[in-house]
Amino acid sequence: MKYNIALLKGDGIGPEIVDSAVSILNQIAVKFGHEFTYNALLAGGCAIDATGVPLPEETLKACLESDSVLLGAVGGPKWDTLPGNLRPEKALLGVRKGLGLYSNIRPAKLYAALKDRCPLRTVSDFDIVIIRELTGGIYFGTSGRRNGELGEEAFDTECYSVTEIERIGKVAFETAMKRKKKLVSIDKANVLESSRLWRERMHKLSEAYPEVEYSDMLVDNAAMQLIKNPAQFDVIVTSNMFGDILSDEASQLTGSIGMLPSASLGDTKCGMYEPIHGSAPDIAGKGISNPIATILSAAMMLRYSFDLEEEANCIDTAVETALNNGFLTVDIGGTMTTKEITEKILELI
Ligand code: NAD
Repeated sequence: MKYNIALLKGDGIGPEIVDSAVSILNQIAVKFGHEFTYNALLAGGCAIDATGVPLPEETLKACLESDSVLLGAVGGPKWDTLPGNLRPEKALLGVRKGLGLYSNIRPAKLYAALKDRCPLRTVSDFDIVIIRELTGGIYFGTSGRRNGELGEEAFDTECYSVTEIERIGKVAFETAMKRKKKLVSIDKANVLESSRLWRERMHKLSEAYPEVEYSDMLVDNAAMQLIKNPAQFDVIVTSNMFGDILSDEASQLTGSIGMLPSASLGDTKCGMYEPIHGSAPDIAGKGISNPIATILSAAMMLRYSFDLEEEANCIDTAVETALNNGFLTVDIGGTMTTKEITEKILELI
């Protein structure tokens, strides 16, 4: 099969980790008889330098025309003082909005080889997928400043429609069906009206998935339970802000931010795949970044956008075997460079 992939390499370590993932995809193409073509496009700080804007129109157009988007990372100190609408991060929001990517899927898994990197000493293995609503909630509600009874005040509004709740709920139940058929929805229904609607609709939706063991949890308890016993979770679904916070908490339990992939999906097969970390300006250009989060993001692309499950599993297994063989980059306690670990994973594929 032929697939056209838009590459947004971005800034800092972005180009080196995307190049690493592309070489892995090329090896998969050879092994399984596919054809991947790539369209490298400007986004983020490099786009600001070249065109004056973080997301040039032609980049978004090419993303819309592609079968999927692979992103490295954007941003860095060079662009930190620019006004909000000109910041590199605007490129991400623009692609998410342009492609209608409302669900963010973040797996967090503790690899056996990295158990001693987990900051918790009592933890057994865990393998969680957090599904975060990405285009609604408090980050997109009405906000502003005004004069109140006590002087100047600021406000942000959390608003969720039934449509938004149901579409992310369906993604969560479908994901649970493909895994251990266990789903926890996290909210703050004891306080927030938006959470009460969220909970009501999730319960209603659960009737359509009788095989899924469904439960609710309050977000404050969830923050504790993730530390106490992360293995109790399989699939988690939650709102934009709670998902933002809890997925970062879960990511730290895995030992390194350099290991964690993510997928952002909407109603079509075209998604955006990216590591959860940033552009790591402190190590950019040194050739020591861990490319695994981006390689695993490419595997998610194969699985979710192209339905190439066997190919995706092949990458996942090669990564796990590399770790088990002690092939580790600096961030996870080894000495290997980006190129060396990529070579090892290529050999294992
Ligand atoms: P960061 O994730 O870039 O780096 C945090 C720490 O983790 C650094 O010490 C870095 O060296 C290390 N690290 C990150 N990825 C690594 C990898 N693959 N291998 C080895 N070590 C790795 O976060 P930050 O320093 O807060 O942000 C740097 C820039 O990235 C900022 O401009 C920020 O806005 C941007 N950012 C972009 C994205 C994105 O593009 N999606 C996400 C987060 C931050």
